[in-house]
Amino acid sequence: MLKLIKNGEVYSPDYIGKKDILITGDKIGYIADSINIPEDFVNIEVIDATDKLVVPGFIDSHVHIVGGGGEGGYKTRTPEIQLTDITTGGVTTVIGVLGTDGTTRTMSNLLAKARALREEGITCYAHTGSYQVPVRTVTGSIQDDIILIENIIGVGEIALSDHRSSQPTFEEILKVASEARVGGILSGKGGVVNIHMGSGKRKLDFLERIVKDTEIPITQFLPTHIGRSEELFKAGIEFALNGGFIDFTTSTVKEKSKSKSSKCSSRLKMLLDNGVSINNITFSSDGQGSLPSFNEHGNFVGLGIGKVTSLYKEVKDAIIEENVEIEDALKVITSNPANILKLIKKGYIKENNDADIVVLDKHSMDIVTVIAMGQVMIQNGEVKVKGTFEE
Ligand code: ZN
Repeated sequence: MLKLIKNGEVYSPDYIGKKDILITGDKIGYIADSINIPEDFVNIEVIDATDKLVVPGFIDSHVHIVGGGGEGGYKTRTPEIQLTDITTGGVTTVIGVLGTDGTTRTMSNLLAKARALREEGITCYAHTGSYQVPVRTVTGSIQDDIILIENIIGVGEIALSDHRSSQPTFEEILKVASEARVGGILSGKGGVVNIHMGSGKRKLDFLERIVKDTEIPITQFLPTHIGRSEELFKAGIEFALNGGFIDFTTSTVKEKSKSKSSKCSSRLKMLLDNGVSINNITFSSDGQGSLPSFNEHGNFVGLGIGKVTSLYKEVKDAIIEENVEIEDALKVITSNPANILKLIKKGYIKENNDADIVVLDKHSMDIVTVIAMGQVMIQNGEVKVKGTFEE
């Protein structure tokens, strides 16, 4: 029941110095400069974090946990995610979403998978709905879903400015936002509207108009895929400078297919250089969604699957290649999503929070050990807990 992480340099995500961390059950029990265990106390596991960084478990706010895709026909529907697809990326909390397909993928299926992942040891929430408006909910109402169903914390991903969008009117999007807002207020949840942004010319127009013409605050929205085009990226900078949150998608099939400047790591650096507050930026993986892949001539050769492991990889690249401060880079996958989604026991290393912790090698910045709800999932790079059907 007790674990002691010794001698690590702790980023909470703000740097708090060299500390020992005592884990009691599934919580962070005690943090101090030095914690010494009485010699006759044998029932404690000590994890040596000398020369290591100790950081909060990562939060991935946009994952197709039951699979996604299907845009190339039925056989391109991607499979369900497995536990270690998540934990090997240092991710200890995921938000499950449906995507384009709200017909063969259902909310019942999404909620069952979210519960399965919880049984397997990590934390999993879900948003209600898919790309479509009217939103297909569990209870018939977005507001009721958020208030009455424990692991539903918001709505999305609703598609806008995309040829696959259900082309909702301004009033329809406004209704979605108002239901999510009231649902969130009455349940103490985020009630965030996660918006899938396509590459269409309307970009963030609807959201900007809602903020300008109504009482809904800009912080009700978390638009994602903001890095998908230069035009959308520019609009995203404005949105963030006005106080909005913007989310960047880390999954790509091949590094080659993306120019360096369009990588999330470089986008992060550019945002900070443009005066955007670090607190307004998040990364998510779009994990288990489908991704088209192209050969060296740029021809379509098939579909790949988005990886949750891409989430921390982009953060690491931001630190190593773009010289973004470790504290800042970590925030986009720890404290920021926790604050925006109101996950009050997540995103920070502090006493009484859930014991979700990642230990990183100080020099390579590679993931060494992953602890979720007090349980060691990955130790020294080795998988300790597998999903129910994993070999
Ligand atoms: Zn999307």
